[in-house]
Amino acid sequence: MKVLRRLDDELQLAEEERLMLDAVRALCRDQLAPNAAGHDRDGAFPRDNVKAINQLGLNGMFVPDAYGGSQLSYLAYLAAVREMAKACAATTMIWATNFHAVKPLIDFGNEEQKQRLLPRVAKGGLVSLCITEPTAGSDATGMRTRFTPDGDGIVVQGGKTFITNGDHAELYILFGKWSEIDSDKGAISVLVMEKGTPGLRIGHKEDKMGQRAASTVALSFEDCRVPRANLLCEPGDGLKILFSALNKSRPSIAAHALGIARAAFEEATAYINQRQQSGRHIIEFQGIQFMLADMATDLALCENWLWRIGRMIDGGEEDIGIEASMLKMRASDIAMSITTDAVQLHGGYGYCKDFPVERLMRDAKITQIYEGTNQIHRQLIGRSFIEK
Ligand SMILES: Cc1cc2nc3c(=O)[nH]c(=O)nc-3n(C[C@H](O)[C@H](O)[C@H](O)COP(=O)(O)OP(=O)(O)OC[C@H]3O[C@@H](n4cnc5c(N)ncnc54)[C@H](O)[C@@H]3O)c2cc1C
Repeated sequence: MKVLRRLDDELQLAEEERLMLDAVRALCRDQLAPNAAGHDRDGAFPRDNVKAINQLGLNGMFVPDAYGGSQLSYLAYLAAVREMAKACAATTMIWATNFHAVKPLIDFGNEEQKQRLLPRVAKGGLVSLCITEPTAGSDATGMRTRFTPDGDGIVVQGGKTFITNGDHAELYILFGKWSEIDSDKGAISVLVMEKGTPGLRIGHKEDKMGQRAASTVALSFEDCRVPRANLLCEPGDGLKILFSALNKSRPSIAAHALGIARAAFEEATAYINQRQQSGRHIIEFQGIQFMLADMATDLALCENWLWRIGRMIDGGEEDIGIEASMLKMRASDIAMSITTDAVQLHGGYGYCKDFPVERLMRDAKITQIYEGTNQIHRQLIGRSFIEK
């Protein structure tokens, strides 16, 4: 494990960020990891974990100081996601979605919006990012939710599906189309809908394969009236906001995937170091060593790329779309292959719920699907090499 540990140790974080990461590790050890199997089993929202996260003030990590937070670097945020995902992927989905959802408000909100809304998030309020609709998944531009201006308000009609945190959110960062703009892509706009808005209804809650304690729900909007003051930027600015948000959330999905993968790798190596067959430890068989070599190498290379992208974003680089796609795609693919191999290395025991690798394999799958499926990422990466 020396190679991977050395990579962890080389991470350049400020002293306060190291202290934060130590606190996250303690939270994982004492609260998240011991409860992960139970939360997976019952699939209920992990209020205890969310409370513990808020006691540490972890939302503050991504909210600027001027709005009640104590913002740390993006690299530190990625390290916290990766650490948390090793312990409980579902809780990580809840917390990381908060970051993904609030980022458009931080980056594109005006001063009044940020003063009014961000302190609620810094104090622990949950946020949902609402893009997907039943007929608009990979092609989000097909969304039909409609924003109609009406005096000092905007009337919202439509619905969303697969919305993480949707039944627990304080704020909904909602994408829809501006009724007065006659362009499929050009009409996309973004507003902040607040919890309790009349006409906002929580619909079907998904019964998921993995990350089961994070809730994923449908939402419907029936003549919901939102103050015009909650519109982000101008009508029609939605696509620009969407692309910028995805550039920050995709590395976060990669950190999540790599946390799951690292946990599975550590579980598997510990197991095969003690399990014996034919008078030898399983790890002594060459066929098994070849598997470990691929798993460890994939992890090391991908973790390196993760920290690189984190540093690029902290350095102010905006043009990172392709790097972020490469990272999200490869990290989630290796999370799936490493968790599958970790089950294999446990033999029949890996197929049973007594061993964490069974859950980790199920938890890994979604990382290949959301924030752009890996087919879409392959297309984006490949297309970027076309010479114009
Ligand atoms: C647990 C969970 C949580 C989620 N959380 C959120 C959330 O918080 N907010 C939110 O807005 N959304 C969320 N989503 C939605 C998620 O982002 C979408 O499921 C995803 O973008 C894929 O869309 P889709 O499911 O409609 O699949 P589809 O777009 O219907 O795709 C089906 C298949 O076709 C392939 N495909 C589609 N188009 C192409 C193409 N052009 N080329 C090649 N292959 C293609 C896809 O790769 C996929 O394999 C969540 C989903 C899940 C399951």
